[in-house]
Amino acid sequence: MDTKLFVVQDIEKDAPLLQEAADILKRGGLVAIPTETVYGLAADALNPEAVKKIFAAKGRPADNPLIVHIAEFEEIYGLASQVPESAKILAERFWPGPLTMIVPKGESIPDITSAGLPTVAIRMPSHPIAREIIRRSCPLAAPSANLSGSPSTTTAQHCIHDLGGRVDAIVDGGECRFGVESTVITLAGKKPRLLRPGAITLEELRDALGEVEMDKAVLSQIDPGERVSSPGMKYKHYAPKAKVVIVDGDSESFLRFLNEQTGEGIFGLVFSGEEERANKPCVVYGENDEDVTQAHRLFAALRELDERGAKLVYARCPHKEGVGLAVYNRLLRAAAFEEITL
Ligand code: AMP
Ligand code: MG
Repeated sequence: MDTKLFVVQDIEKDAPLLQEAADILKRGGLVAIPTETVYGLAADALNPEAVKKIFAAKGRPADNPLIVHIAEFEEIYGLASQVPESAKILAERFWPGPLTMIVPKGESIPDITSAGLPTVAIRMPSHPIAREIIRRSCPLAAPSANLSGSPSTTTAQHCIHDLGGRVDAIVDGGECRFGVESTVITLAGKKPRLLRPGAITLEELRDALGEVEMDKAVLSQIDPGERVSSPGMKYKHYAPKAKVVIVDGDSESFLRFLNEQTGEGIFGLVFSGEEERANKPCVVYGENDEDVTQAHRLFAALRELDERGAKLVYARCPHKEGVGLAVYNRLLRAAAFEEITL
């Protein structure tokens, strides 16, 4: 199929392009759209035939449910069978923004969207282009706009690379601000529980709600066959073709370790400035101790490693608090949980 590219620079001037994207979605087509987290591969969340195409285009396993994106808080009442008080508190503080809430699903949500679960994931993005397209179309199911397993896309070029020829259109809205997928919290159990860390931090969620548990899958590998709260967590994810190993240590000891390694195709995935002291080629992902810049760069850096032909990558370990927890969670999956402590 021919994939149209809509370059949107101005919400008002480019309104006809946004309308064309919305019309494709209303007709049951697929459009990759920019959000403040990563690019999303959108389809009408309430149209099972349209949602089916998302799974096919991404090669996504059918038991991995999708996040439904809305433009106004009130839309949640048409999608959820129950809106807990905690959801209202979180929406008040963090919506529109990079937070997804899991709530009991309403009858309007087709089984394919929630992958047969009795719950639905809902998010109100803050990106003006995403919001405008939702406003002009309908609630949108939109997982990350990458091929399943590969790093999520943070530019339209990444989307063209993964999905060109597989989707009806790609809306280019520039680079995504945060660079990692939304924080996911479930409000459908007895206690609120963090399923996936993101730019809204565990600390901020606890500040808003009091007690918030952290799901085991955030930091540890799930055995095949084990029951998981968030199916997405069990799959291989974000992985470049190169083998990645996380190396936990300070800048000095990391560089000593990297410089001692011998072999073909070894790369460092490092913080800014460290590449100058390394004797191997390096890709930079953010600044030391600036988790927000690390999140912003991580997926593009993983893609760059592949483009440069890396075979074995030793990656600097981020800290594990705040947004660093989201960076660490993604890097753990890119590394298939392989970590060396110096
Ligand atoms: P993606 O949109 O590709 O970033 O993936 C969405 C993430 O949200 C995946 O990890 C899903 O497993 C998770 N998710 C979506 N819906 C639900 C749900 N109803 N219950 C638990 N996790 C969900
Ligand atoms: Mg994804």
